[in-house]
Amino acid sequence: MFGTPQVKQTFQSTRTGRPRVVVVGGGFGGVSCARMLHGVDAEIVLLDRSNHTLFQPLLYQVATGVLDDSSIAAPLRRVFGSQRNLTVVKFEVEGFDFDRRLVITEDFEIPWDHLVLAAGVRTNYYGNQWEDVAPGLKTLEDAHMVRARVLDAFEEAEVSRVRGQTDLVPEWLTFVVVGAGATGVEVSGAIKQLAVDRLAREFHELKVSNARVILVEGGDRVLSTMSRRSSDSAAATLAAYGVEVRTNTKVMEVGHEGVRLSGANGDDFIPARTVIWAAGVSASPLAKSMIDGLGLTCGPQGTIPVGDDLTVAGRDDIRVIGDIACVIQPDGTTVPGVAPAAIQMGAHAGKALRRIIRGRTPSSKPFRYRDKGALATIGRGHAVLDIGRFHLSGFLGWIIWAVVHIWFLINFRSRVMAMAAWVWAYVVQDGVNELITKENHRPVQADDDLNRESSAALQSSVVPPR
Ligand SMILES: Cc1cc2nc3c(=O)[nH]c(=O)nc-3n(C[C@H](O)[C@H](O)[C@H](O)COP(=O)(O)OP(=O)(O)OC[C@H]3O[C@@H](n4cnc5c(N)ncnc54)[C@H](O)[C@@H]3O)c2cc1C
Repeated sequence: MFGTPQVKQTFQSTRTGRPRVVVVGGGFGGVSCARMLHGVDAEIVLLDRSNHTLFQPLLYQVATGVLDDSSIAAPLRRVFGSQRNLTVVKFEVEGFDFDRRLVITEDFEIPWDHLVLAAGVRTNYYGNQWEDVAPGLKTLEDAHMVRARVLDAFEEAEVSRVRGQTDLVPEWLTFVVVGAGATGVEVSGAIKQLAVDRLAREFHELKVSNARVILVEGGDRVLSTMSRRSSDSAAATLAAYGVEVRTNTKVMEVGHEGVRLSGANGDDFIPARTVIWAAGVSASPLAKSMIDGLGLTCGPQGTIPVGDDLTVAGRDDIRVIGDIACVIQPDGTTVPGVAPAAIQMGAHAGKALRRIIRGRTPSSKPFRYRDKGALATIGRGHAVLDIGRFHLSGFLGWIIWAVVHIWFLINFRSRVMAMAAWVWAYVVQDGVNELITKENHRPVQADDDLNRESSAALQSSVVPPR
């Protein structure tokens, strides 16, 4: 009935009488924690707004048509098919009632004895409304959107050529990637290779290999979290592919028809119809709900500060793990937001809960992140690798990158499919999915005249390069 506050239902289950662990988020952290609780005499409820767990490091390959969805994602229900003490529920969590120990969804309240929050992060536009014109890469939906826009840009370039609108061709064939962390480097290398290795054979009149890919970075180098050597090697490889790297450059504005940049040489307008945002993340809104609800001080990018046992201050029933957690290491740095850290935190929290549920005290051993190295790939057959002081780049680095990524994929089926797709993509040099099926993948634009006006307005604010 209109106007009547909705009464939420309480989540019921058949495993009554057992302690209930509610895990929010079925990504790297949540899955790792839930797996640790296999066989424990408890009720595990895993909540995720999507029905799958996702291997985000390979999202860019879905976005560039190399891999199919099912190579990098698996239904949570299948992942936990043999774990009888676990129930997967596809709920979007809206908040918490900390006094009553309830997870709140749109129409349900789910009581917990132990809560594990593993809801990750989302794309950060730093207060700008650029989401429509510059999609990020965080979910499968994002990857579909990016793939549709990238592939469609080549089609639109061809249509412009056929129509004789030759001035539009370069705009459609210019791709701007913002942020030169691992995702930005990987995406920009992959788009250039898509154009040169795959599409160039299929477009006979249009010179798609001339496609411009511009990688924009506010800092002074690409892959700034890796060693200087790896960063230099990645920059050199990108340059050899023909990717234009612009460091020390900030994005001032993003519009339907291009981006305005500000760098050492002043401002510059780049006419480009496709912009991809890989420039940062901030914690899921559930972090704010917990920070406000428990009176905590927020960590970097809105993350939740936790102790070295991964509980939040004063609440030993609440653990926070993965990218959404801010864990300070003994050297004062924070644990990085990477998959191995989320997996290790999940395992640590899971082991502690296992002991508690079995009536033992949790180990007093604090959580310590074991950094096993960093990897990034730049197109086909080249990757950079840092393990402590050891650095490797080139084809051998790429083999290690491929083995590590195959190893970490969630199940045997995904591994076989990814390997087959890579042979197809890198040996036969063909894509696995280059179909444009997503409708409405570009934001609604005003008519052409208005576009020209907005483009002119953007360009008029450009300071000529000195
Ligand atoms: C494009 C990309 C490339 C990356 N590359 C690498 C790499 O090469 N190496 C590396 O180590 N790391 C990489 N990372 C980072 C790595 O993926 C993360 O560190 C890791 O996923 C963090 O795990 P998590 O469990 O904290 O969060 P996630 O894996 O993000 O999982 C969070 C889960 O919570 C769910 N969720 C969120 N909000 C709600 C809600 N309100 N209700 C219900 N469910 C919710 C989401 O659906 C999701 O399933 C990359 C990330 C991205 C986006």
